Amino acid sequence: MYTQRPAEFDYHRPTSLDEAIGLLAEDGARALAGGHSLLPLMKLRFAEPRTIVDLGRIPGLDAIEEDGDVLSIGALATHAAVAASELVRSRCRVLATTAEGIGDRQVRNRGTIGGSLAHADPGADYPTVTKALGATIVATGTGGEREIAADDFFTGVFTTSLEQGELVTSVRVPVVGAGTGAAYEKHRNPASGYAVVGVAAVVRVEGGKCSGARLVVGGVTGTPEHAIAAADAMIGIAPVDEAAIAAVAEKVPEALGGAIGDTYASAEYRVHLAQVRARRAITAAFDAAQG
Ligand SMILES: Cc1cc2nc3c(=O)[nH]c(=O)nc-3n(C[C@H](O)[C@H](O)[C@H](O)COP(=O)(O)OP(=O)(O)OC[C@H]3O[C@@H](n4cnc5c(N)ncnc54)[C@H](O)[C@@H]3O)c2cc1C
Repeated sequence: MYTQRPAEFDYHRPTSLDEAIGLLAEDGARALAGGHSLLPLMKLRFAEPRTIVDLGRIPGLDAIEEDGDVLSIGALATHAAVAASELVRSRCRVLATTAEGIGDRQVRNRGTIGGSLAHADPGADYPTVTKALGATIVATGTGGEREIAADDFFTGVFTTSLEQGELVTSVRVPVVGAGTGAAYEKHRNPASGYAVVGVAAVVRVEGGKCSGARLVVGGVTGTPEHAIAAADAMIGIAPVDEAAIAAVAEKVPEALGGAIGDTYASAEYRVHLAQVRARRAITAAFDAAQG
């Protein structure tokens, strides 16, 4: 039955991480961050948590800091905060521009990076970009803290390798250094802004040639996929060689077996869009590397 009212739940607003983790260890407990994904699910009764643990009063969980050659972004950092951060803009610009392109102003002001990663929506932007950047997700539970490579974090549609009761506390993103460029190109769903298809490219250029590349495609399959054949084909090409970039993009579908279609875009259309967006992302990443 369709209802606009969630089922009953207990509400807690802890003021420390330890308290939150203790509460989340209980059966049926669920974290609440920006609420932009969880609350709609609760209203539709697709999610019926017995206990809500609101993370919003835990101090420090929204910090954005530089730690050597890594940016550490607290789970509660909103998309708007990531987009506006001078540190993120100067050290990992692609993450700021990705945040800038999420949803609308309201979503960006409430939605958080930790919530987006934990929710693992196939159409979300951060999963694709963090995977291409080689980021690490820091998770904290009753057993302490552990680091999970973004490559191992997304395990299926709305599914991650987080254990029951574990919280994402931060994400550690390598700084994009000189000679390296990164870009994210998405085909937005016109209603929501979610990626119908999103492609993230990270390239390294040395001596006028590509010496390293990662290409990740989101929105087409259940989890963001590395387009390995395409990334391998990028090694040795020149950033200005449009024909070579087009040939690379033609290899993208090799990674997209199991493409998902829906009423907005068929699987075939998504695979086509992935090639178009891959060309643009690669070109933009090369521009940024030479920038
Ligand atoms: C209209 C609309 C448009 C949108 N457009 C886009 C878009 O263009 N691109 C995009 O990427 N996203 C988009 N989103 C999603 C948005 O970015 C959400 O903010 C995000 O998916 C969830 O973040 P949240 O902080 O709101 O999490 P919540 O809704 O609070 O939580 C989502 C899930 O994650 C869990 N969770 C939250 N925080 C943590 C944590 N720290 N550790 C462990 N689990 C946690 C919750 O228990 C819940 O299961 C859109 C949403 C809406 C409503």
